[in-house]
Amino acid sequence: QFPFGRRLPCDIYWHGVSFHDNDIFSGQVNKFPGMTEMVRKITLSRAVRTMQDLFPLEYNFYPRSWILPEEFPLFVAEVRMMKDSDPSWKPTFIVKPDGGCQGDGIYLIKDPSDIRFTGSIQSRPAVVQEYICKPLLVDKLKFDIRLYVLLKSLEPLEIYIAKDGLSRFCTEPYQEPTLKNLHQVFMHLTNYSLNIHSGNFIHSDNVNTGSKRTFSSILCRLSSRGADVKKLWSDIISLVIKTIIALTPELKVYYQSDIPAGKPGPTCFQILGFDILLMKNLKPMLLEVNANPSMRIEHEQELSPGVFENVPSPVDEEVKVAVIRDTLRLVDPQKKKRKDTQGSICRGCPSGFPRFACWFRKVSSSMKDKQHKHHSLKLSLKLKFYLKLGWCQAPEHVSEAQEELVDARAENAAGKGPEAGLPSLCLKQVFPKYAKQFNYLRLVDRVAALFIRFLGVKGTTKLGPTGFRTFIRNCKLSNSNFSMAAVDILYIDITRRWNSTGTDHKESGMCLQAFVEAFFCLAQKKYKSLPLHEQVASLIDFCEYHLAALDEKRLLGGRG
Ligand code: ADP
Repeated sequence: QFPFGRRLPCDIYWHGVSFHDNDIFSGQVNKFPGMTEMVRKITLSRAVRTMQDLFPLEYNFYPRSWILPEEFPLFVAEVRMMKDSDPSWKPTFIVKPDGGCQGDGIYLIKDPSDIRFTGSIQSRPAVVQEYICKPLLVDKLKFDIRLYVLLKSLEPLEIYIAKDGLSRFCTEPYQEPTLKNLHQVFMHLTNYSLNIHSGNFIHSDNVNTGSKRTFSSILCRLSSRGADVKKLWSDIISLVIKTIIALTPELKVYYQSDIPAGKPGPTCFQILGFDILLMKNLKPMLLEVNANPSMRIEHEQELSPGVFENVPSPVDEEVKVAVIRDTLRLVDPQKKKRKDTQGSICRGCPSGFPRFACWFRKVSSSMKDKQHKHHSLKLSLKLKFYLKLGWCQAPEHVSEAQEELVDARAENAAGKGPEAGLPSLCLKQVFPKYAKQFNYLRLVDRVAALFIRFLGVKGTTKLGPTGFRTFIRNCKLSNSNFSMAAVDILYIDITRRWNSTGTDHKESGMCLQAFVEAFFCLAQKKYKSLPLHEQVASLIDFCEYHLAALDEKRLLGGRG
């Protein structure tokens, strides 16, 4: 803490709530600009919906949602249509105020007409969502999972997931929603902050029992019942990666606005809290993402009436300490410096050897050097780890993160590294590890790259009419069927609609979401009969091709 202001630059800045520093020029900050805005209920729902439009099957892990008040008529119409087509469908919906947390203002309804329009919806917009009526129960209780995810870098995308999380239990046995029990929050809402006030809440010293347990203890129980826990983990990993892929385009717009490329600035990382509900059939469903998850490892206990004391909470400690410790290990600036000076891995090897071959030469020569006993021991251990992991077969695929892991393990095994004696990492890298499986989903990222290119003046997040016209002209999108006048009308129509949704009035112009909508419109016009994601992919290719040609022409022109 720097109550009187900071004097020296730091390696790592740990902010409590959000990214808010404009005078940091180096180091790493534990928050991304715009993350708090991005994970608000409405913004998250919009970002996921864009992906659902492109890839409905891949994004079926998020309950159907409508944004209030603007989509109320749509909500009513769609519910009526679904009820008409399936009269046996008896849905329940959950209304959640935007920007709320800890269950604040949440209520369940059976019919759209039950929404409380007592002025609050106008002043405080909300998301109304299909309620998951058949959650998985343990000990007859509903519970949700809080998983910690480290977004280590946005460009290139690097994601880690903690191997263990928390399971937070309701305190009343679960029954499917009926008009009689809709109001029973201890039965339907799993928030710790609510259930702690129930007489049934159990603080436990044991991670396997009580109202808050480790997720691993639940997995053990499921596994003993014969559940396919491996598949469940892989579904959870996929949910996390897909959600982050939905968030990255807008995060990149915020990032370039706060930390313009080419100017000195910090890099960012962030620990996110993912709230996930398991359905009876073990399908994980995303409830929400928390940009500022609680890292408390104590809870309040009432010793005698009115007398409270903070006591350690073993479950929180077990999970959260590991998350913070490993985050610091992964972003440790000393590690980077050590590696850069050590040069034991050949990055950009001048000899042109493949990475592993060159590295192996270094190992063998340094083994001969008796004066560097520790170094060679470490290298030989490294070699052993590489061989054990089978990386020697495809050394060129050894990622930086894998190298880091090997570095750390080898140093620890040699008993000399700063990480010696620390437990193995609880944060597991999932991206770029599984990049090949998910990269095809990153279409909106490429649309965002086009948007950023035409933003012009750095520091803005909205595109002006001239920028939009330049985009159309440079990408050769206007023709006899689509005049520049039509381009202007498209710009005005979409921008006006988005600016009236009340998301952000600070700047005028077209926000990324509006640009994405305009882009989808153009793609549908140009490539009529394809599915939407193919239309969009084709238009991106088309634009990127013309921009690359333009860049080349300018480069040659410059040389000439
Ligand atoms: P908050 O940020 O206020 O905690 P959440 O979206 O996490 O809001 O919702 C609070 C709780 O409500 C969740 O922890 C979960 O128990 C329950 N819940 C939320 N959405 C759904 C849903 N679609 N289906 C079933 N239960 C839900």
